[in-house]
Amino acid sequence: MAERLIVVGGDAAGMAAASQARRRRDGTDLEIVTFERGHFTSYSACGIPYWISGVVTDRDDLIARDPATFRETFDIDVRLRHEVTRIDLERREVHARSLDSGAEVREPFDQLVYATGAVPVTPDWAQTDALGVFGVQTLDDGSALREWLDQDPGPSRAVVVGGGYIGVEMAEAMLRRGLSVTLVERAQQPMSTVDPDMAALVADAMRNLGIDIRAGVAVTGLETGDGRVRGVRTTSGRVPADVVVLGLGVRPNTALAADAGLPLGPTGGIRVDLRMRVMDTPGVWAAGDCVETVHRVSGQPAHVPLGTHANKQGRVAGINIGGGYATFPGVVGTAVTKVCDLEVGRTGLRERDASAAGFEFVSTVVESTNRAGYFPGAETMTVKLIAERPSGRLLGAQIVGRSEAAKRIDPLAVALWNGMTVDDMTALDLGYAPPYAPVWDPVLIAARKAVDALRT
Ligand SMILES: Cc1cc2nc3c(=O)[nH]c(=O)nc-3n(C[C@H](O)[C@H](O)[C@H](O)COP(=O)(O)OP(=O)(O)OC[C@H]3O[C@@H](n4cnc5c(N)ncnc54)[C@H](O)[C@@H]3O)c2cc1C
Repeated sequence: MAERLIVVGGDAAGMAAASQARRRRDGTDLEIVTFERGHFTSYSACGIPYWISGVVTDRDDLIARDPATFRETFDIDVRLRHEVTRIDLERREVHARSLDSGAEVREPFDQLVYATGAVPVTPDWAQTDALGVFGVQTLDDGSALREWLDQDPGPSRAVVVGGGYIGVEMAEAMLRRGLSVTLVERAQQPMSTVDPDMAALVADAMRNLGIDIRAGVAVTGLETGDGRVRGVRTTSGRVPADVVVLGLGVRPNTALAADAGLPLGPTGGIRVDLRMRVMDTPGVWAAGDCVETVHRVSGQPAHVPLGTHANKQGRVAGINIGGGYATFPGVVGTAVTKVCDLEVGRTGLRERDASAAGFEFVSTVVESTNRAGYFPGAETMTVKLIAERPSGRLLGAQIVGRSEAAKRIDPLAVALWNGMTVDDMTALDLGYAPPYAPVWDPVLIAARKAVDALRT
């Protein structure tokens, strides 16, 4: 008789796991059922800001594989609009409810993949029936926001609450649609994923684009009228708004897991081993934004909710369920984003992470250009390195600049992954031609400066 695999959550991690398992085991050997409470499978949440802004014109372009493809090509029984409400580990069954008909079902499993993603942080003031307040966690959320923006006449004043990368990307999206944009951030500046000196460059660029940044300010409530949002109340006064977009961060979606007794780690994510098996829970796997992983530089548990990890972790779980062998070795915290033409890349530890982990370190900042200085289109970029003292091991790097500056973080991420010292890095054989780099690449200049700093 075929084994049964139940997958809870039908996006990046869940469907990567399901399809990898199917590639290795056919339907006579492994029956696969996925429960997804939304309307879509395998879509790119990462693309939502770009569809909202109009850079991506068709919502369906964000969907990598729809349920029909999973059914027909992968023989996976996808049950959309079905919410799993309980996982019974003793009886080895899940309880699910159809969100359309209300019908309850119970499905037995031999193997279970828990891939429920993350839940957006939603303060009390944001829990409102008033129209015009949106998260952007799912494609359903994005569709609701897009519908609101597409009204005629559409809203003209947007408030984005939260200045993480999603808030920053949504601020750009609103700007591109011609709205006036205010970004409210409780911390002293947006983009706290990089150090304050680098975040200040991002904040300046956003102000130059016309975004009104209210930093060091917290939202305390919403103003509504006729059932619609009219503004936000903040610790420094009222900001009028016809649309409010929430980007306050996420936490692992582990309510069901906790009820079922799955082990959670210090970050709140599910604890898994290298093969994505939930610790001490035979036959149960977890992947994506709901799990915690290890930070390879600090050696500490980390919750890094990114699509790049969700896809890899789901794939690892699926290969193992399919009878193969794969591991997920942790993360170094690499991420890239942009606001209009300003790009931001980061990898490894920020100064505060390095201090918290107990490292002695030096930090250095250089300015260089993306092309030879004389070459048309040369633009300045700022590169920051954090290196352990006295070993010189690279601990972290950040880049802010234009014209493909962000992806220059990748050689730094590779160096970090491989434990290179900044001294080793000064000799890296990186490509050079005037249209692509100055003769000393910004990465090499940054490494040289860090070496000098370590000598002082
Ligand atoms: C606006 C935005 C931009 C982003 N940009 C980037 C980026 O540029 N780069 C990057 O790497 N990452 C980015 N991310 C993060 C990335 O989208 C997530 O890390 C990734 O989607 C996580 O995949 P997942 O499968 O773990 O979770 P999710 O994609 O959240 O999928 C979980 C699924 O589980 C379903 N579900 C949850 N509970 C239940 C239940 N009880 N029953 C049934 N179904 C359930 C949900 O409906 C959801 O579809 C972005 C995210 C957002 C929101």
